[in-house]
Amino acid sequence: MIGWLLPRFVRVNWHRFSLFFLAMGLFTACSHPRYIEEQEPIAMEMPQFQQGPVIVIDAGHGGKDLGTNSKSPHYEEKILTLDTAFLVEHYLQRMGYRTVLTRTEDVSIPLEKRSSIANDLGSKVFVSVHYNSAPSAQAHGIEVFYFNSEKNRGRARESKVLAQQVLNQVIDVTKAKSRGVKHGNLSVVRETAMPAVLIEGGFLTNSGERQKIFQTNYRRQLAWGVASGIDKYLKGH
Ligand SMILES: [Zn+2]
Repeated sequence: MIGWLLPRFVRVNWHRFSLFFLAMGLFTACSHPRYIEEQEPIAMEMPQFQQGPVIVIDAGHGGKDLGTNSKSPHYEEKILTLDTAFLVEHYLQRMGYRTVLTRTEDVSIPLEKRSSIANDLGSKVFVSVHYNSAPSAQAHGIEVFYFNSEKNRGRARESKVLAQQVLNQVIDVTKAKSRGVKHGNLSVVRETAMPAVLIEGGFLTNSGERQKIFQTNYRRQLAWGVASGIDKYLKGH
């Protein structure tokens, strides 16, 4: 069982754990940040076969690292990325994939740990979830980064295809503006050994986009887009 080999904060989401998490979610519902609209619990059914490829989902930031944040209106990127990562996991599990999150709670994880989790597990795909910020309140839209490695052209090519599939699906379902697929020299997509992407799922500094991101339903759409982009990528291989 792979779980025994993992650090304590890495949880393979078996049925038992899902129930535990659901219960914890119910107990802590009162302490949810107010800007996150109250969520109906999503059905935590497990896939019939727990033998599909492993996909590592990375919720950006965590713990002391809030990510982009504001006091008024109040938001912290790390909360939204974790919520979205759970939704991505939910959809991927329904599609029959095994999933591992780099964090399942509000803790800080070093960047190199995030990539080594995926490398150690032999993950098929790695996806990191973030939300964006910009000095200009006008900036909006969704972009997906991959590492255009000179050394490993094969992985760079695959990561770019994956990035385009994820972006296409996310834009299709959210109708957000596409800012394209971009090269990013970012630790988590650089240090991973498999096709890896980082999605910036919209700008929290743009009021219109922020209002959408605060809505559970919008984050569900976004998560569905990420999951179906990964699924399309893997089925094309
Ligand atoms: Zn971020």
